[in-house]
Amino acid sequence: MSQQTMRGMRLGAQSLESEIGVAYSARSTHSYQCPRGHQTSVVFSAEAELPDTWQCKTCGGEGVLVEDGKIIELNHEEKTPRSHWEMLLERRSREELEEILQERLEYIRERRSAGKADL
Ligand SMILES: [Zn+2]
Repeated sequence: MSQQTMRGMRLGAQSLESEIGVAYSARSTHSYQCPRGHQTSVVFSAEAELPDTWQCKTCGGEGVLVEDGKIIELNHEEKTPRSHWEMLLERRSREELEEILQERLEYIRERRSAGKADL
């Protein structure tokens, strides 16, 4: 979305001054549709995790996320990124990891005792 369109949007009660430097590009607009068909547009920070539902501005009903008029089913399980640790565990057993850790610790200790480590 261009900065021009963002500038035309209501961004809440913030003063103009505090909006400067807040980075318009870091926001995105999403629509929620209630069971009666009202659409409510909500501006989120680009990094925000979108809520499943949003209260309808018109009737107070529970709106669900829509995109291009279609209801989006949020699957949080799939969306949740795996941690580095979880990915590591898929590739190596816990025993292997312990071994690698021990090797690494020994290496660091040796360097430290040799007086050349600032790890
Ligand atoms: Zn509604």
